[in-house]
Amino acid sequence: MEIKKGIGVSPGVVISTAVVLDAEDLLIPERHVPAGRTTDEVTRFHQAIASAIAEISALREKMIAEAGKEIAAIFDVHIGILKDKSLLKQVEVEIVKQQTTAEFAVSIVMRRYSQAFLKMSDRYLSERVKDIHDIERRLLHNLIGQKHYDLAHLSRDVVIIAHDLLPSQTAALDRTHVKGFATDVGGRTSHTAIVARAMGIPAVVGLGNITSEVNSGDTIIIDGHHGVLIINPDEEQLVEHRESEKRRVVVETQLAELLHMPGQTLDGHEVALMANIEVPAGIDEAVDRGAQGVGLYRTEFLYLTREDGEPSEEDHYEAYVDSLRRLHGKPLVIRTLDLGADKYTQSKQANPERNPFLGDRSIRMCLHDIPMFKRQLRAIMRASTQGDVRIMFPMISTLMELRQAKMVLYDVMEDLEDEGLPFRREIPIGMMIEVPSAALMADSFAKEVNFFSIGTNDLIQYTLAVDRTNEKVAGLFCPAHPAVLKLVRDVIRIGQRHNISVSVCGEMAGEPLYTLLLLGLGLTLFSMNGPDIPEVKKIIRSTSMEHARQVARRVMSFDSERQVMHFLREETRKLVPEAF
Ligand code: PEP
Ligand code: MG
Repeated sequence: MEIKKGIGVSPGVVISTAVVLDAEDLLIPERHVPAGRTTDEVTRFHQAIASAIAEISALREKMIAEAGKEIAAIFDVHIGILKDKSLLKQVEVEIVKQQTTAEFAVSIVMRRYSQAFLKMSDRYLSERVKDIHDIERRLLHNLIGQKHYDLAHLSRDVVIIAHDLLPSQTAALDRTHVKGFATDVGGRTSHTAIVARAMGIPAVVGLGNITSEVNSGDTIIIDGHHGVLIINPDEEQLVEHRESEKRRVVVETQLAELLHMPGQTLDGHEVALMANIEVPAGIDEAVDRGAQGVGLYRTEFLYLTREDGEPSEEDHYEAYVDSLRRLHGKPLVIRTLDLGADKYTQSKQANPERNPFLGDRSIRMCLHDIPMFKRQLRAIMRASTQGDVRIMFPMISTLMELRQAKMVLYDVMEDLEDEGLPFRREIPIGMMIEVPSAALMADSFAKEVNFFSIGTNDLIQYTLAVDRTNEKVAGLFCPAHPAVLKLVRDVIRIGQRHNISVSVCGEMAGEPLYTLLLLGLGLTLFSMNGPDIPEVKKIIRSTSMEHARQVARRVMSFDSERQVMHFLREETRKLVPEAF
């Protein structure tokens, strides 16, 4: 038995049998063809291109149906590259001039292409390199006549262990049999992770050398929530995970009855449960789980799923109107772009930053690129007449930053007015509290916004000095740390004092362990991943507010996260024995 820690990029727990994929780097030998046969090679090349376009188009359709058109856009880029006239020309020239095979010409030209991107040493562009590698392999397999994407036709349940999965491989996975996957490399915002989340496949990435530590046939537990993979678990762990699986099934079956019940304590205190989404299609599943709206729309994913330049105002607008249509009047909190740090775009800078989490990310990046910021704000304001839209600024760390962001927003309103375009001037304006300076200054901020949303993922990272994406210090990343809890408590209190709404939209809001505590601290709005809603709702419906307050008082008297977690686990189990 071995436990490995990586980065959980798509939630859910699975136990299944491993299939380890070989790193398949095809080595294509240089082979000469007689001058008279180069035309045949060019024809073979064009046939391979045509088949590749047909295959990717089919994959794109599958993605549109399963995950929406924003995710499918990843494959528009693939098709674009396959139709790129200059690329086609370069391969033809290579075949004819060097008198070589189509395979060899493809491998040479594609490698040249990806090296050009690699030289730019940029995470966003390195994602593009992966796409090029993906296309190259598809073309080569078509030329060699090998069918390689057989992960689409499995006959039994498996989890896939691979060095890396290409976005198209992930999209082609047979959802009925592939129960999860784990990879050596990767991060939360890689295309593979985005596709996995959109398809609901539990996944852990960034596991280092997992392909050499697992053998096909091993029993594997993948916990996509906590970023954990267990190789050949012992009996105790198997029992524990099967029990948790059973509990999940019980919760699932209770889902239908819970769905239409309010998030309300036994003594009648109402709590709103909302969803975090990355793409509009995510709303449908969240609403099916009982979401009363979207408490956090991570709009940066509009950038992360496309590579053919930045989204236009129309792209933003369409995504927001699509979301509102799916919400049927329920609220939509649109968070303005939170790019940078782990969410690319070093492409905006020639030199990558040394400390991207402390660098030009999020609202700072927007204030450095006003035209980009305005494009998004215009789209949000135009969409504001079509539903309950609220706007939220991320990563605010100083009052000046908030004021500047609001000024840009008011500028946009003036422009729209001059153009005669309708918008809702009284749009609620909120900010995220995810930097300790914002939490400590909440009293001042509360006078200038309509709501707060506590982003615990970043608040924990910045309070405890723990990089949230670094698996080496993942054990130190803990919502139960008393320092974090004090900040959360104070922000909720200050919100109450100023009569503005406060929510928590970090992962902590969806962890059943913290439900009683957050409730007892006075939180009335939780925003989380759709699948977490039923369990959190169940806990809320099983306690009185009085009891939750007592729990919170006790928790705030502890000075170690272990005490906090132990106490919360015990208290929650008393109420909902099937929790955890
Ligand atoms: C957070 O930081 O808690 C948050 C919700 O934002 P993100 O995870 O997108 O940084
Ligand atoms: Mg954040």
